[in-house]
Amino acid sequence: MKNNVFDLSGKNAVVTGGSRGLGKSFALSLANAGANIIIVDIDRNEQTEKEIAALGVNCETVVFDLANFANYDELVASILSKYQKIDILVNNAGIQRRHPSANFPKADWDLVLDINQNAVFFMCQAFGRHMIEKGYGKIINIASLLSFQGGLTIPAYAAAKSAVLGFSKSLSNEWASKGVNVNCIAPGYIATEMNTALMNDEVRNRQILERIPAGRWGNPEDLGGAAVFLASPASDYINGHAIVVDGGWMGR
Ligand code: NDP
Repeated sequence: MKNNVFDLSGKNAVVTGGSRGLGKSFALSLANAGANIIIVDIDRNEQTEKEIAALGVNCETVVFDLANFANYDELVASILSKYQKIDILVNNAGIQRRHPSANFPKADWDLVLDINQNAVFFMCQAFGRHMIEKGYGKIINIASLLSFQGGLTIPAYAAAKSAVLGFSKSLSNEWASKGVNVNCIAPGYIATEMNTALMNDEVRNRQILERIPAGRWGNPEDLGGAAVFLASPASDYINGHAIVVDGGWMGR
């Protein structure tokens, strides 16, 4: 296609939690559009790296625990020393803890907020400084339907995902004029390991499927198009927005 506005050739993208699940799918989609991929993950998955590199781009994993807030500046510096610029940041890594709210343990509350909320904000800050300096950047924060709804037995997750949507708008207000787009993707119910417990619960699985107009759980591949769009020049005038990819759940 002439002047392909979805072309990411020559762009460098950091994808947190990109070794598996939705993160892997985001990384593959961005790579398929031409971007080099730097996965930041607590574990390395060589199979994922191979699949991404097979698309003709560079791919490597920086093994890093996002709970290490004190080392974020070092992380950015080490990536920049090799890649010179980061154009795209996908804050995807996330965790889930389920307990009835009346007994939700403080330790799990803190853990979920640290990874799903605090890490997302401070990664935006650490890479955002570089993007502001450069006058260009695309930040995609992975929100959730729980950015809009309360869910059941996942209050910490709902709190964190609501915060992600909130501060993505705040960052957008400050950074849109500096060439940095901050947006969210809010996936619906997607079949990944995070949802194994739900899929194995016959009653919840049926209730969930009954509400999805598309009539099926989403696949990680269903999300790639939204990521490429928000990472590309096609979305240059979109700021502080959340694209909901949910098979119609929110409209029901
Ligand atoms: P997965 O559990 O399948 O994958 C999460 C990835 O993040 C894994 O690679 C994991 O590493 C990594 N990770 C976890 N903790 C850390 C950490 N402290 N530091 C670095 N990496 C870490 O999750 P999903 O793919 O299902 O979810 C991805 C994102 O999408 C999350 O933000 C989630 O909240 C969101 N989401 C998911 C939905 C779904 O239906 N699946 C729906 C809505 C939102 P490891 O392999 O070692 O665990």
